[in-house]
Amino acid sequence: MLTIKNLHASVEDKTILQGLDLEIKPGEVHAIMGPNGAGKSTLGYVLSGRDGYEVDQGSVEFNGKDLLDMDVEERAREGLFLAFQYPVEIPGVSNMEFMKEAVNAVREQQGEEAYTSAEFLKKAKEACKQVHLPLDFLKRGVNEGFSGGEKKRNEIMQMILMQPSLCILDESDSGLDVDALQVVADGVNSQRNSERSFIVVTHYQRLLDYIEPDYVHILAKGKIVKSGDASLAKEVEASGYAWLGDKNTEEA
Ligand code: ADP
Ligand code: MG
Ligand code: MG
Repeated sequence: MLTIKNLHASVEDKTILQGLDLEIKPGEVHAIMGPNGAGKSTLGYVLSGRDGYEVDQGSVEFNGKDLLDMDVEERAREGLFLAFQYPVEIPGVSNMEFMKEAVNAVREQQGEEAYTSAEFLKKAKEACKQVHLPLDFLKRGVNEGFSGGEKKRNEIMQMILMQPSLCILDESDSGLDVDALQVVADGVNSQRNSERSFIVVTHYQRLLDYIEPDYVHILAKGKIVKSGDASLAKEVEASGYAWLGDKNTEEA
């Protein structure tokens, strides 16, 4: 589904990713861990096509197509979802209206009929309940005055509504309380199936107590330096990243 080969990428002329390889098959959950500043968030942004992130070398194939050739909207229509990629706040546009447009754009791409307002309202209410948000959230402006925990729930709600084929969740820098952590984990687990894949970026092993990954990768200095199964996350929790050596860490 996703094949990344020798990816080199930079931000403001600073090289961040330096020869990253990653292969993800349908239905797999890959966790990416690594020291601060390793390039984990950059990987998510590069995959989603965010402005300012330049690919200098390498290739990314997504569902048999050249991902790097697509703009941000095309990537989303192809089924790529990056939590946090949505605008910070759009006053005046309701959360529900915003999501309906996004979901229908994807359905159109996939040759399915757009949801009517009534159909979408039903779906949205179900998703809202699933992430334990009050229904009036659907009427509020996109992210307008949402608390940290509400934003997180809202993102998971978006993921549930979008039905993407590849979800990228970046939890490295968010100080998630146990409650929000559980919402993220339940959201991922409820959406896990044999076709949908996930990249879960996390600083903390804790999240992986709730989401059992098929593979764990350690990203350091812009490339994947070690891959393993879920037990690798436990090793990291026990011993940190010192084994990478000073050359590979900004922080011991
Ligand atoms: P991680 O998510 O693994 O902590 P990031 O991908 O956020 O790492 O950052 C990797 C490196 O790229 C860091 O050294 C960071 O300072 C740098 N970086 C990220 N975004 C920018 C930017 N917009 N401008 C300049 N440097 C950046
Ligand atoms: Mg960071
Ligand atoms: Mg990060």
